[in-house]
Amino acid sequence: MTKVQKGKLIIFSAPSGSGKTTIVHWLMKQIPELAFSVSATSRKIRQGETDGKDYHFLSVKDFKQRIRQNAFVEWEEVYENQFYGTLISEVERLRNEGRHVVFDVDVKGGMNIKRLYGNDALAIFVQPPSIEELEKRLRSRNTDSDESIRKRVKKADYELQYAKNFDVVIINDNLEEAEQKTLKVVTEFLGRDPVIHKR
Ligand code: ADP
Ligand code: 5GP
Repeated sequence: MTKVQKGKLIIFSAPSGSGKTTIVHWLMKQIPELAFSVSATSRKIRQGETDGKDYHFLSVKDFKQRIRQNAFVEWEEVYENQFYGTLISEVERLRNEGRHVVFDVDVKGGMNIKRLYGNDALAIFVQPPSIEELEKRLRSRNTDSDESIRKRVKKADYELQYAKNFDVVIINDNLEEAEQKTLKVVTEFLGRDPVIHKR
């Protein structure tokens, strides 16, 4: 029987609105071997999201039950009463298939996964050019209430202080430049030739 080489881990963290999801979706189209770790969350589903694809959407009660069952690699109460967690079952299933796993997690979760997986993991911080621009992006995304945007902007200063602890910081000012830099660092980490991308 041939032994499958376990996949590596690529962690993306950023203040909400930085453009992390946009970059991750683009990157996954460039490198088909990547698989997304679908987290569980107790926040409400947004328009355009699919249960089981973007997140496993759970009630707070069900989320807490999963905590008690030790179902998570890590979990955080990212915003008050909004829980998010990386499922052990998800990560191990994908890694055992030899897939490289991509994570979209908050800064604390990102650091925890990096600490657990060490050199098997690359921790990338996506930084917005400024907090003002971050707020503008959250407003133009048109998916969050004023209250939700306020919470996210308020937390951004604190989250930015984590940037220095990550392996790589990508400043997402010009989107295409940020995407290309991400592709370069990820392909180097995975040890394969970069894809030549044309829009
Ligand atoms: P996050 O996942 O970090 O919360 P998103 O990827 O949802 O952020 O991006 C937030 C909004 O900003 C989206 O509407 C997205 O289209 C937009 N956006 C992303 N990157 C840029 C960029 N470099 N310049 C302008 N707008 C951007
Ligand atoms: P959103 O509600 O915008 O989808 O995500 C809010 C924040 O929760 C983002 O910073 C996102 O990266 C983070 N997040 C999503 N999934 C997880 C997870 O499994 N664990 C942790 N710690 N954070 C997560």
